[in-house]
Amino acid sequence: PTQPTAPTAVVIGGGIGGVAAALRLRQQGTKVTLVEQAPEFGEVGAGLQLAPNATRLLAEWGLLDRVLSVAVAPKNLVFRDAVTGRELLRKDVQGEFAERYGAPYIVAHRADLHTILVDAARGAGVELVNGVTVARAENLPTGARAVTTDGRAFDADAVIAADGLRSAVRAQMSDDEPIPSGYVAFRGALPISDVKHASDMEDVVVWLGPRCHLVQYPLRRGEMFNTVAVFQSPAFLRGEEVWGTEDELEEAYKDCVPEVRKALENLWRVRSWPMFDRLPLANWVDGNVALLGDAAHPMLQYLAQGACQALEDAHVLGGLVREHVLPADDGERREAWALALREYNEIREPRTSRVQTTARVWGESWHMDEPVAVLIRNMLFEAADARGAFPYTDWLYGQDGLNHPAQPVATSHPTHGHLLAGV
Ligand code: FAD
Repeated sequence: PTQPTAPTAVVIGGGIGGVAAALRLRQQGTKVTLVEQAPEFGEVGAGLQLAPNATRLLAEWGLLDRVLSVAVAPKNLVFRDAVTGRELLRKDVQGEFAERYGAPYIVAHRADLHTILVDAARGAGVELVNGVTVARAENLPTGARAVTTDGRAFDADAVIAADGLRSAVRAQMSDDEPIPSGYVAFRGALPISDVKHASDMEDVVVWLGPRCHLVQYPLRRGEMFNTVAVFQSPAFLRGEEVWGTEDELEEAYKDCVPEVRKALENLWRVRSWPMFDRLPLANWVDGNVALLGDAAHPMLQYLAQGACQALEDAHVLGGLVREHVLPADDGERREAWALALREYNEIREPRTSRVQTTARVWGESWHMDEPVAVLIRNMLFEAADARGAFPYTDWLYGQDGLNHPAQPVATSHPTHGHLLAGV
């Protein structure tokens, strides 16, 4: 009599990953409670790139039109050398690209995407609870429990922890720590009327410089403009505790063309984001408790895939719950969830590990400062288009990334074969 008749889940964390997971589980017939520590749901007011592997899912979930109505579908991804200004690669991401991957490459305001997901989750019947900080998750004879810092318990068949880079639940499964990259991001998303140095209003532009890069793109139907500056902090290299401050910003771009230096005026100066990742973790599941999104696989942002991978997690998890949990009787339900979560781990881990490791190498290739290395990098970028860049992007944006573990990589070093992934 204590068995619930509908499957139940508690999701910890109301970021993009947690809200997407809650929505998908709810759409598959699960009764979902989502708990978030912040007093209100929200996201940083900056931009987010969403590649076709993510927009294809938004389409399947019935949300792409709403996202598109507030987003921008850029014409090209453009890479330029930040020191010479030379254009290295202009990849058309409409036409053949969008057709090949079955969905568009878009850039959206984070808060817009997040609001659309929260509204959809609420509309589907997810119970959203704010002001709840989870201390740990436990397996129970009947399912799993999230225990809050003030001693409350949220019980369900399963607990999905989407509690981000510094996940409390991950700490129960692994003693690893976030790894500082020594690089820091400054961001700025401004109304277009306040932007002094906007260029290429139809493209995503990435300027590659020595130990730094700069990304620019329009947001919100072109009403806003987003700038992200990422550079290596000398204070971090000196071993100082405080690093990546505003003082280091201008200096980091001193060798770049005026167009790049002027673009720094479009950044917010009040806050910066030191960049961390972790090494891939093979096991993200303990019985009826699983990690999702950055809690499971935080990555450096160079492939612009962290949120995209969290959406993939949510999609795969929802599919496995439909396959294993929904047909199960009440008495078999706990085991059915455990099976779904194990398969989720097996399917997702090889792919997200590959994205994590590739993102690191991809970032390094952007930040070269030795003249020979820069020359070779530039030659590779310039050659990529003539060769057709699809071989470099198929593994990431292609159709089969979701349901099968990634294919073994045919080089002795698993990341080098994908240096140009994302071009
Ligand atoms: P988070 O967004 O970190 O959400 C975790 C949530 O859990 C938060 O709301 C937090 O308050 C809550 N929480 C934490 N602990 C607890 C607790 N104990 N109890 C209750 N609640 C808790 N990705 C892309 O796909 N495209 C991009 O272009 C892109 N650009 C990026 C640029 C930068 C500069 C950075 C830093 C990242 C970028 N990413 C990008 C990555 C992306 O932002 C993240 O991967 C994604 O937001 C992770 O979502 P999440 O829901 O897993 O985690």
